[in-house]
Amino acid sequence: MTESAELAPIREAVRALCANFPGEYWRCLDRDRGYPEEFVAALTKAGFLAALIPEEYGGSGLSMSAAVAIMEEIQASGCNGAACHAQMYTMGTVLRHGSAAQKQRYLPAIARGELRLQAFGVTEPTSGTDTLSLRTTATPDGDHYVINGQKIWTSRAEYSDLMLLLARTAPKDEKSRTAGLSVFLVDMRTVKGKGLTIRPIRTMMNHATTEVFFENMPVPLDGLVGVEGEGFRYILSGMNAERILIAAECIGDAKWFIAKAVAYAREREVFGRPIGQNQGVQFPIARSHINMRAAELMVREAATLYEAGKECGAEANMAKHLAAEASWAAADMCVQTHGGFGFAEEFDIERKFRETRLYTVAPISTNLILSYVAEHALGLPRSY
Ligand SMILES: Cc1cc2nc3c(=O)[nH]c(=O)nc-3n(C[C@H](O)[C@H](O)[C@H](O)COP(=O)(O)OP(=O)(O)OC[C@H]3O[C@@H](n4cnc5c(N)ncnc54)[C@H](O)[C@@H]3O)c2cc1C
Repeated sequence: MTESAELAPIREAVRALCANFPGEYWRCLDRDRGYPEEFVAALTKAGFLAALIPEEYGGSGLSMSAAVAIMEEIQASGCNGAACHAQMYTMGTVLRHGSAAQKQRYLPAIARGELRLQAFGVTEPTSGTDTLSLRTTATPDGDHYVINGQKIWTSRAEYSDLMLLLARTAPKDEKSRTAGLSVFLVDMRTVKGKGLTIRPIRTMMNHATTEVFFENMPVPLDGLVGVEGEGFRYILSGMNAERILIAAECIGDAKWFIAKAVAYAREREVFGRPIGQNQGVQFPIARSHINMRAAELMVREAATLYEAGKECGAEANMAKHLAAEASWAAADMCVQTHGGFGFAEEFDIERKFRETRLYTVAPISTNLILSYVAEHALGLPRSY
Protein backbone atom coordinates (compact mmCIF):
# COMPACT_ATOMS: atom_id res chain seq x y z
CA MET A 1 0.00 0.00 0.00
CA THR A 2 1.95 3.01 -1.23
CA GLU A 3 1.22 6.49 -0.02
CA SER A 4 -0.20 9.16 -2.29
CA ALA A 5 2.49 11.46 -3.73
CA GLU A 6 0.39 14.43 -2.58
CA LEU A 7 1.57 13.83 0.97
CA ALA A 8 5.26 14.26 0.16
CA PRO A 9 5.22 18.11 0.42
CA ILE A 10 3.36 17.88 3.76
CA ARG A 11 5.97 15.49 5.10
CA GLU A 12 8.73 17.78 3.88
CA ALA A 13 7.14 20.85 5.46
CA VAL A 14 6.73 19.10 8.83
CA ARG A 15 10.35 17.93 8.72
CA ALA A 16 11.51 21.48 7.93
CA LEU A 17 9.53 22.88 10.86
CA CYS A 18 10.79 20.18 13.23
CA ALA A 19 14.40 20.88 12.28
CA ASN A 20 14.05 24.11 14.30
CA PHE A 21 13.42 22.02 17.43
CA PRO A 22 16.48 19.80 17.85
CA GLY A 23 17.26 17.34 20.63
CA GLU A 24 18.67 20.05 22.90
CA TYR A 25 15.28 21.84 22.91
CA TRP A 26 13.48 18.67 24.05
CA ARG A 27 16.21 17.73 26.54
CA CYS A 28 15.89 21.07 28.35
CA LEU A 29 12.11 20.75 28.53
CA ASP A 30 12.40 17.14 29.68
CA ARG A 31 14.71 18.14 32.54
CA ASP A 32 12.28 20.82 33.79
CA ARG A 33 9.07 19.07 32.69
CA GLY A 34 8.37 22.19 30.63
CA TYR A 35 5.71 22.61 27.96
CA PRO A 36 6.97 23.07 24.37
CA GLU A 37 5.12 26.37 23.82
CA GLU A 38 7.23 27.46 20.83
CA PHE A 39 6.87 24.10 19.12
CA VAL A 40 3.09 23.99 19.58
CA ALA A 41 2.82 27.61 18.40
CA ALA A 42 4.86 26.83 15.28
CA LEU A 43 2.72 23.77 14.44
CA THR A 44 -0.44 25.80 14.97
CA LYS A 45 0.79 28.71 12.85
CA ALA A 46 1.66 26.33 10.02
CA GLY A 47 -1.90 24.97 10.17
CA PHE A 48 -0.85 21.42 10.99
CA LEU A 49 -2.95 21.13 14.16
CA ALA A 50 -6.01 22.24 12.20
CA ALA A 51 -5.43 19.52 9.60
CA LEU A 52 -8.74 17.80 10.32
CA ILE A 53 -10.82 20.96 10.74
CA PRO A 54 -12.81 21.54 7.51
CA GLU A 55 -11.97 24.61 5.44
CA GLU A 56 -15.42 26.12 6.08
CA TYR A 57 -14.31 26.53 9.73
CA GLY A 58 -10.92 27.91 8.80
CA GLY A 59 -9.04 24.63 9.07
CA SER A 60 -6.82 22.94 6.52
CA GLY A 61 -9.51 20.37 5.63
CA LEU A 62 -6.99 17.61 5.06
CA SER A 63 -7.55 13.85 5.08
CA MET A 64 -6.79 11.39 7.87
CA SER A 65 -3.86 10.13 5.79
CA ALA A 66 -2.43 13.68 5.81
CA ALA A 67 -2.90 13.89 9.59
CA VAL A 68 -1.14 10.53 9.90
CA ALA A 69 1.77 11.85 7.83
CA ILE A 70 2.01 14.97 10.03
CA MET A 71 2.06 13.09 13.34
CA GLU A 72 4.45 10.46 12.04
CA GLU A 73 6.95 13.05 10.75
CA ILE A 74 6.89 14.93 14.05
CA GLN A 75 7.96 11.81 15.91
CA ALA A 76 10.39 10.62 13.22
CA SER A 77 12.11 14.02 13.53
CA GLY A 78 12.76 13.38 17.24
CA CYS A 79 10.08 15.81 18.42
CA ASN A 80 7.13 14.93 20.65
CA GLY A 81 3.60 15.43 19.35
CA ALA A 82 2.11 14.34 22.68
CA ALA A 83 2.18 18.00 23.67
CA CYS A 84 -0.66 18.70 21.27
CA HIS A 85 -1.87 15.53 19.49
CA ALA A 86 -5.26 15.51 21.25
CA GLN A 87 -6.35 18.58 19.33
CA MET A 88 -6.41 16.47 16.18
CA TYR A 89 -8.90 13.95 17.54
CA THR A 90 -10.90 15.72 20.26
CA MET A 91 -12.31 18.29 17.90
CA GLY A 92 -13.75 15.45 15.76
CA THR A 93 -16.38 14.93 18.47
CA VAL A 94 -17.35 18.61 18.26
CA LEU A 95 -17.40 18.46 14.48
CA ARG A 96 -19.62 15.39 14.32
CA HIS A 97 -21.91 15.97 17.29
CA GLY A 98 -21.66 19.63 18.28
CA SER A 99 -24.36 22.18 17.46
CA ALA A 100 -23.92 24.65 14.59
CA ALA A 101 -23.39 27.38 17.22
CA GLN A 102 -20.65 25.40 19.01
CA LYS A 103 -18.85 24.70 15.77
CA GLN A 104 -18.99 28.37 14.72
CA ARG A 105 -17.87 29.52 18.13
CA TYR A 106 -14.96 27.17 18.66
CA LEU A 107 -13.60 25.60 15.48
CA PRO A 108 -12.46 28.77 13.65
CA ALA A 109 -10.81 30.05 16.84
CA ILE A 110 -9.09 26.68 17.32
CA ALA A 111 -7.96 26.72 13.69
CA ARG A 112 -6.55 30.27 14.13
CA GLY A 113 -4.67 29.15 17.24
CA GLU A 114 -6.58 31.52 19.54
CA LEU A 115 -8.13 28.63 21.46
CA ARG A 116 -6.69 25.28 22.40
CA LEU A 117 -8.77 22.12 22.76
CA GLN A 118 -6.06 19.86 24.11
CA ALA A 119 -7.67 18.36 27.21
CA PHE A 120 -9.73 15.20 27.15
CA GLY A 121 -11.27 14.23 30.49
CA VAL A 122 -12.41 10.61 30.39
CA THR A 123 -10.30 8.44 32.72
CA GLU A 124 -11.11 8.42 36.44
CA PRO A 125 -9.05 7.00 39.29
CA THR A 126 -11.61 4.49 40.52
CA SER A 127 -13.02 3.18 37.24
CA GLY A 128 -9.90 3.18 34.99
CA THR A 129 -10.52 1.40 31.72
CA ASP A 130 -14.11 0.65 32.74
CA THR A 131 -15.35 3.99 31.40
CA LEU A 132 -18.99 3.06 31.84
CA SER A 133 -18.44 3.05 35.63
CA LEU A 134 -17.21 6.63 35.80
CA ARG A 135 -18.58 8.65 38.66
CA THR A 136 -18.20 12.33 37.80
CA THR A 137 -21.70 13.80 37.70
CA ALA A 138 -23.30 16.68 35.80
CA THR A 139 -26.58 17.87 37.31
CA PRO A 140 -28.80 20.48 35.62
CA ASP A 141 -29.46 23.52 37.80
CA GLY A 142 -31.25 26.46 36.12
CA ASP A 143 -29.19 27.77 33.22
CA HIS A 144 -26.22 25.49 33.84
CA TYR A 145 -24.97 22.04 34.84
CA VAL A 146 -23.09 21.51 38.09
CA ILE A 147 -20.13 19.15 37.78
CA ASN A 148 -18.73 17.17 40.70
CA GLY A 149 -16.06 14.48 40.66
CA GLN A 150 -12.52 13.81 39.57
CA LYS A 151 -10.55 12.85 36.48
CA ILE A 152 -7.03 11.49 36.30
CA TRP A 153 -4.40 11.58 33.57
CA THR A 154 -6.08 14.56 31.94
CA SER A 155 -3.09 15.50 29.86
CA ARG A 156 -2.33 19.11 28.85
CA ALA A 157 -5.15 20.51 31.05
CA GLU A 158 -2.80 23.29 32.22
CA TYR A 159 -2.08 24.30 28.63
CA SER A 160 -5.53 24.03 27.13
CA ASP A 161 -8.43 26.50 27.13
CA LEU A 162 -11.10 23.91 26.52
CA MET A 163 -11.71 20.44 27.84
CA LEU A 164 -13.89 17.75 26.35
CA LEU A 165 -15.39 16.14 29.42
CA LEU A 166 -17.36 12.91 29.85
CA ALA A 167 -19.69 12.94 32.87
CA ARG A 168 -22.71 11.09 34.16
CA THR A 169 -26.08 12.82 33.74
CA ALA A 170 -28.12 9.78 34.86
CA PRO A 171 -27.35 6.89 37.21
CA LYS A 172 -25.76 3.76 35.77
CA ASP A 173 -28.45 1.58 34.23
CA GLU A 174 -27.61 -2.13 33.98
CA LYS A 175 -30.18 -2.56 31.17
CA SER A 176 -28.61 0.08 28.97
CA ARG A 177 -24.96 0.20 30.04
CA THR A 178 -23.89 2.96 27.70
CA ALA A 179 -26.76 5.37 28.50
CA GLY A 180 -26.54 8.23 30.98
CA LEU A 181 -23.16 9.66 30.01
CA SER A 182 -22.88 13.08 28.40
CA VAL A 183 -20.12 15.09 26.75
CA PHE A 184 -19.41 18.71 27.69
CA LEU A 185 -17.21 21.31 26.16
CA VAL A 186 -15.83 23.09 29.20
CA ASP A 187 -14.23 26.52 28.90
CA MET A 188 -11.64 26.02 31.61
CA ARG A 189 -10.61 29.69 31.57
CA THR A 190 -13.89 30.64 33.22
CA VAL A 191 -13.84 28.03 36.00
CA LYS A 192 -10.21 27.68 37.08
CA GLY A 193 -10.20 28.26 40.83
CA LYS A 194 -14.01 28.43 40.74
CA GLY A 195 -14.83 24.75 41.01
CA LEU A 196 -11.96 23.48 38.83
CA THR A 197 -8.60 22.49 40.31
CA ILE A 198 -5.77 21.06 38.21
CA ARG A 199 -2.84 19.26 39.82
CA PRO A 200 0.13 18.15 37.70
CA ILE A 201 1.31 14.53 37.98
CA ARG A 202 5.05 14.09 37.48
CA THR A 203 5.61 11.04 35.29
CA MET A 204 8.64 9.19 33.88
CA MET A 205 8.45 11.32 30.73
CA ASN A 206 7.52 14.92 30.01
CA HIS A 207 3.80 14.61 29.29
CA ALA A 208 2.09 17.51 31.10
CA THR A 209 -0.48 15.17 32.56
CA THR A 210 -2.67 16.07 35.53
CA GLU A 211 -5.44 15.13 37.87
CA VAL A 212 -8.47 17.36 37.77
CA PHE A 213 -11.00 18.00 40.51
CA PHE A 214 -14.52 19.37 40.00
CA GLU A 215 -16.29 20.85 42.97
CA ASN A 216 -19.67 22.37 42.05
CA MET A 217 -18.15 23.52 38.78
CA PRO A 218 -20.73 25.33 36.63
CA VAL A 219 -20.98 24.64 32.91
CA PRO A 220 -23.58 26.56 30.86
CA LEU A 221 -26.35 24.42 29.35
CA ASP A 222 -24.99 25.20 25.90
CA GLY A 223 -21.74 23.47 26.88
CA LEU A 224 -23.50 20.14 26.37
CA VAL A 225 -22.40 18.45 23.14
CA GLY A 226 -25.23 16.73 21.27
CA VAL A 227 -27.97 14.98 23.20
CA GLU A 228 -27.82 14.43 26.96
CA GLY A 229 -27.16 10.77 27.79
CA GLU A 230 -25.64 9.93 24.37
CA GLY A 231 -22.09 10.95 25.26
CA PHE A 232 -20.47 7.55 25.36
CA ARG A 233 -21.36 6.99 21.72
CA TYR A 234 -19.88 10.39 20.81
CA ILE A 235 -16.63 9.59 22.59
CA LEU A 236 -16.46 6.17 20.93
CA SER A 237 -16.91 7.80 17.53
CA GLY A 238 -13.65 9.69 18.09
CA MET A 239 -11.71 6.66 19.27
CA ASN A 240 -10.81 5.34 15.82
CA ALA A 241 -9.18 8.64 14.88
CA GLU A 242 -7.32 8.65 18.18
CA ARG A 243 -6.04 5.08 17.67
CA ILE A 244 -4.91 5.80 14.09
CA LEU A 245 -3.11 9.03 14.99
CA ILE A 246 -1.34 7.54 18.01
CA ALA A 247 -0.34 4.57 15.83
CA ALA A 248 1.15 7.03 13.34
CA GLU A 249 3.18 8.63 16.13
CA CYS A 250 4.49 5.20 17.10
CA ILE A 251 5.52 4.54 13.49
CA GLY A 252 7.40 7.86 13.57
CA ASP A 253 9.12 6.88 16.81
CA ALA A 254 10.09 3.47 15.40
CA LYS A 255 11.54 5.16 12.31
CA TRP A 256 13.57 7.51 14.51
CA PHE A 257 14.98 4.63 16.61
CA ILE A 258 15.80 2.55 13.52
CA ALA A 259 17.53 5.45 11.74
CA LYS A 260 19.57 6.23 14.88
CA ALA A 261 20.56 2.57 15.27
CA VAL A 262 21.54 2.18 11.61
CA ALA A 263 23.70 5.31 11.69
CA TYR A 264 25.45 4.28 14.88
CA ALA A 265 25.93 0.65 13.81
CA ARG A 266 27.65 1.82 10.61
CA GLU A 267 29.95 4.28 12.30
CA ARG A 268 30.87 2.73 15.67
CA GLU A 269 33.94 0.53 15.40
CA VAL A 270 34.77 -2.15 17.95
CA PHE A 271 37.26 -5.01 17.35
CA GLY A 272 38.46 -3.07 14.30
CA ARG A 273 35.17 -3.09 12.35
CA PRO A 274 31.77 -1.42 12.42
CA ILE A 275 29.47 -3.09 14.94
CA GLY A 276 26.79 -3.20 12.22
CA GLN A 277 28.91 -5.77 10.37
CA ASN A 278 28.00 -8.29 13.07
CA GLN A 279 24.75 -10.08 12.36
CA GLY A 280 24.05 -10.08 16.10
CA VAL A 281 23.75 -6.29 15.77
CA GLN A 282 22.19 -6.21 12.28
CA PHE A 283 19.37 -8.65 12.87
CA PRO A 284 17.56 -6.81 15.69
CA ILE A 285 17.66 -3.64 13.54
CA ALA A 286 16.32 -5.52 10.50
CA ARG A 287 13.62 -7.12 12.65
CA SER A 288 12.57 -3.69 13.95
CA HIS A 289 12.35 -2.41 10.39
CA ILE A 290 10.20 -5.36 9.31
CA ASN A 291 7.84 -4.92 12.28
CA MET A 292 7.58 -1.17 11.72
CA ARG A 293 6.79 -1.63 8.01
CA ALA A 294 4.08 -4.20 8.74
CA ALA A 295 2.52 -1.90 11.33
CA GLU A 296 2.78 1.06 8.93
CA LEU A 297 0.74 -0.84 6.33
CA MET A 298 -2.00 -1.47 8.89
CA VAL A 299 -1.99 2.23 9.85
CA ARG A 300 -2.42 3.17 6.19
CA GLU A 301 -5.24 0.67 5.75
CA ALA A 302 -7.04 1.98 8.82
CA ALA A 303 -6.61 5.61 7.66
CA THR A 304 -7.87 4.77 4.17
CA LEU A 305 -10.98 3.05 5.54
CA TYR A 306 -11.55 5.94 7.97
CA GLU A 307 -11.45 8.62 5.30
CA ALA A 308 -13.74 6.57 3.06
CA GLY A 309 -16.26 6.62 5.90
CA LYS A 310 -16.06 2.84 6.26
CA GLU A 311 -16.07 0.79 9.46
CA CYS A 312 -12.48 0.63 10.74
CA GLY A 313 -12.70 -0.27 14.44
CA ALA A 314 -10.71 -3.49 14.13
CA GLU A 315 -8.11 -1.95 11.78
CA ALA A 316 -7.65 1.15 13.96
CA ASN A 317 -7.14 -1.00 17.04
CA MET A 318 -4.82 -3.44 15.28
CA ALA A 319 -2.82 -0.54 13.84
CA LYS A 320 -2.42 1.01 17.28
CA HIS A 321 -1.39 -2.34 18.76
CA LEU A 322 1.14 -3.26 16.07
CA ALA A 323 2.62 0.24 15.95
CA ALA A 324 2.96 0.58 19.74
CA GLU A 325 4.65 -2.82 19.96
CA ALA A 326 6.92 -1.94 17.04
CA SER A 327 8.00 1.40 18.52
CA TRP A 328 8.65 -0.08 21.94
CA ALA A 329 10.70 -2.98 20.47
CA ALA A 330 12.62 -0.50 18.31
CA ALA A 331 13.34 1.64 21.38
CA ASP A 332 14.80 -1.34 23.21
CA MET A 333 16.82 -2.35 20.15
CA CYS A 334 18.17 1.20 19.81
CA VAL A 335 19.44 1.25 23.40
CA GLN A 336 21.09 -2.15 22.90
CA THR A 337 22.75 -1.06 19.65
CA HIS A 338 24.21 1.99 21.36
CA GLY A 339 25.54 0.06 24.35
CA GLY A 340 26.38 2.48 27.17
CA PHE A 341 25.74 5.56 25.05
CA GLY A 342 22.08 4.54 24.78
CA PHE A 343 21.74 5.68 28.38
CA ALA A 344 23.39 9.07 27.90
CA GLU A 345 20.97 12.01 27.88
CA GLU A 346 22.70 13.77 24.99
CA PHE A 347 21.85 10.94 22.57
CA ASP A 348 18.09 11.52 23.14
CA ILE A 349 17.50 7.77 23.01
CA GLU A 350 16.67 7.35 26.69
CA ARG A 351 14.18 10.24 26.43
CA LYS A 352 12.43 8.83 23.38
CA PHE A 353 12.55 5.38 25.03
CA ARG A 354 10.60 6.77 28.01
CA GLU A 355 8.21 8.68 25.78
CA THR A 356 7.28 5.79 23.50
CA ARG A 357 6.74 3.39 26.40
CA LEU A 358 3.40 5.04 27.06
CA TYR A 359 1.65 3.77 23.99
CA THR A 360 1.12 0.14 24.93
CA VAL A 361 -0.80 1.51 27.94
CA ALA A 362 -2.52 4.70 26.76
CA PRO A 363 -4.86 5.76 25.33
CA ILE A 364 -5.86 2.09 25.44
CA SER A 365 -3.85 -0.78 26.83
CA THR A 366 -2.76 -3.86 24.90
CA ASN A 367 -5.13 -6.19 26.75
CA LEU A 368 -8.14 -4.08 25.91
CA ILE A 369 -7.19 -4.05 22.22
CA LEU A 370 -6.78 -7.82 22.23
CA SER A 371 -10.14 -8.09 23.92
CA TYR A 372 -11.74 -5.77 21.31
CA VAL A 373 -10.33 -7.81 18.43
CA ALA A 374 -11.31 -11.12 20.07
CA GLU A 375 -14.88 -9.94 20.50
CA HIS A 376 -15.52 -7.73 17.48
CA ALA A 377 -13.30 -9.24 14.77
CA LEU A 378 -13.42 -12.88 15.86
CA GLY A 379 -16.84 -13.16 17.50
CA LEU A 380 -15.52 -14.55 20.78
CA PRO A 381 -17.62 -13.99 23.92
CA ARG A 382 -17.26 -10.66 25.70
CA SER A 383 -15.05 -11.07 28.77
CA TYR A 384 -16.04 -8.04 30.84
C1 LIG B 1 0.76 9.70 30.65
C2 LIG B 1 -0.70 9.36 30.48
C3 LIG B 1 -1.51 10.24 29.79
C4 LIG B 1 -2.88 9.97 29.68
N1 LIG B 1 -3.70 10.92 29.10
C5 LIG B 1 -5.05 10.78 29.20
C6 LIG B 1 -5.94 11.83 28.81
O1 LIG B 1 -5.52 12.89 28.33
N2 LIG B 1 -7.26 11.67 29.01
C7 LIG B 1 -7.78 10.53 29.57
O2 LIG B 1 -9.01 10.45 29.74
N3 LIG B 1 -6.97 9.49 29.93
C8 LIG B 1 -5.64 9.59 29.78
N4 LIG B 1 -4.79 8.58 30.18
C9 LIG B 1 -5.37 7.38 30.77
C10 LIG B 1 -5.16 6.12 29.93
O3 LIG B 1 -6.07 6.14 28.85
C11 LIG B 1 -5.33 4.93 30.87
O4 LIG B 1 -4.21 4.93 31.77
C12 LIG B 1 -5.38 3.63 30.13
O5 LIG B 1 -6.55 3.55 29.34
C13 LIG B 1 -5.37 2.45 31.11
O6 LIG B 1 -6.33 2.67 32.14
P1 LIG B 1 -5.89 2.60 33.67
O7 LIG B 1 -4.62 3.31 33.85
O8 LIG B 1 -7.03 3.03 34.49
O9 LIG B 1 -5.61 1.07 33.93
P2 LIG B 1 -6.63 -0.03 34.54
O10 LIG B 1 -7.94 0.06 33.89
O11 LIG B 1 -6.56 0.08 36.01
O12 LIG B 1 -5.88 -1.34 34.08
C14 LIG B 1 -4.61 -1.76 34.62
C15 LIG B 1 -4.11 -2.95 33.80
O13 LIG B 1 -5.06 -4.01 33.87
C16 LIG B 1 -5.44 -4.41 32.56
N5 LIG B 1 -6.89 -4.76 32.56
C17 LIG B 1 -7.92 -4.07 33.11
N6 LIG B 1 -9.08 -4.71 32.89
C18 LIG B 1 -8.78 -5.80 32.16
C19 LIG B 1 -9.56 -6.86 31.59
N7 LIG B 1 -10.88 -6.91 31.72
N8 LIG B 1 -8.91 -7.84 30.91
C20 LIG B 1 -7.58 -7.81 30.76
N9 LIG B 1 -6.78 -6.83 31.27
C21 LIG B 1 -7.38 -5.85 31.95
C22 LIG B 1 -5.18 -3.21 31.65
O14 LIG B 1 -4.93 -3.64 30.33
C23 LIG B 1 -3.96 -2.60 32.32
O15 LIG B 1 -2.78 -3.18 31.80
C24 LIG B 1 -3.42 8.79 30.24
C25 LIG B 1 -2.56 7.88 30.90
C26 LIG B 1 -1.23 8.16 31.03
C27 LIG B 1 -0.37 7.21 31.80
